[in-house]
Amino acid sequence: MTEIYVSDPIHPYVLAEIKAAATVHLGFGPDKVNYLNVSKNVDAVILRAENFTKDVIEASPQLKIIARHGVGTNNVDIDAATDQGIWVTTTPGANSNAVAEHVFALLLAGARKVPTATHRVRAGNWSEGKGDLIGFELSGRTMGIIGFGAIGRRVAAIARGFGMTVLACDPIAKAEDVAAAGARLVSLDELITEADAISIHVPLLPSTRHMIGVQELARMKKSAFIINTSRGGLVDEAALADALNKELIAGAAFDVLEAESIDMKDPLPHTPFPHSTTPGLLLTAHIAGQTEEAFLEAGTVAWAEVQRVLAGEAPSHPVNQPNLRPAHA
Ligand code: NAD
Repeated sequence: MTEIYVSDPIHPYVLAEIKAAATVHLGFGPDKVNYLNVSKNVDAVILRAENFTKDVIEASPQLKIIARHGVGTNNVDIDAATDQGIWVTTTPGANSNAVAEHVFALLLAGARKVPTATHRVRAGNWSEGKGDLIGFELSGRTMGIIGFGAIGRRVAAIARGFGMTVLACDPIAKAEDVAAAGARLVSLDELITEADAISIHVPLLPSTRHMIGVQELARMKKSAFIINTSRGGLVDEAALADALNKELIAGAAFDVLEAESIDMKDPLPHTPFPHSTTPGLLLTAHIAGQTEEAFLEAGTVAWAEVQRVLAGEAPSHPVNQPNLRPAHA
């Protein structure tokens, strides 16, 4: 019987389907196994966070596919997989809408001061100081989207629904495609100076690291609200803390922090934002892509890729072109 290793929790519907079709080894929960104890007979892996290094891959003689549940592949040695004739696949777009909706969860929470308002009510203060909680509306304001890919385009569609004017900057986007999505393609400089809300949706690359720094923050409107649900490191956090403390901009909301790579459990002490004291800053802990729907979609797509490859077909979302060996034919 086919043997499948599932590294971390996936949607229970999908797990039930896999269990009905194969022998399943789980890398989590009470029945957790160590992958290396079962690796000899495993045909397919559905992978979330675990590291699939060269050693692990080389201990997997039957393995035909590592199906990532998500898009990043930095936890897989792609070259080792390719050499060994193993497909590596991803689930692109599975959480694009989830991230885009989280942008608006953060933006509206900031615009209407929801965290402060909740805190006051819970502290027994229903009506005092209500004047401090006057918010702003999205309708009629300008949304600036940096990176007009899968998530950026979805943010544009939602922003239009709120009655916002949408500006976008992206080096590969065509003005006519951006216009067809209801937005206007502009330079980063124009976007930064004109937008009321700025949302970042670019990958973290050497060229995009700290793309928002002291100079960019200084050119934003005093009323600007900046949102980063993309990757820590795109915004210079020391410059952001300074801009918020000096009230150069109105607020910021981050789902990702540069210090996540230093301490996944509590990155905040490694940032320029001391616990809870930076004004106008909302934080969530890398949950933008985490919805029931996105989880189901990612699991369904990863499992479909496994089924395709085990049936001898090519997957739909490969990130490599494996050297297929006779042993895997
Ligand atoms: P995508 O590849 O579809 O789009 C990225 C876009 O950024 C591309 O169109 C690219 O041309 C553009 N870009 C690159 N460099 C740029 C620059 N200097 N200026 C402007 N645009 C630039 O990616 P996506 O699926 O939209 O994802 C965007 C980001 O969101 C990724 O970094 C991803 O890691 C992150 N993400 C975060 C979460 C989360 O849970 N917080 C979940 C999913 C994705």
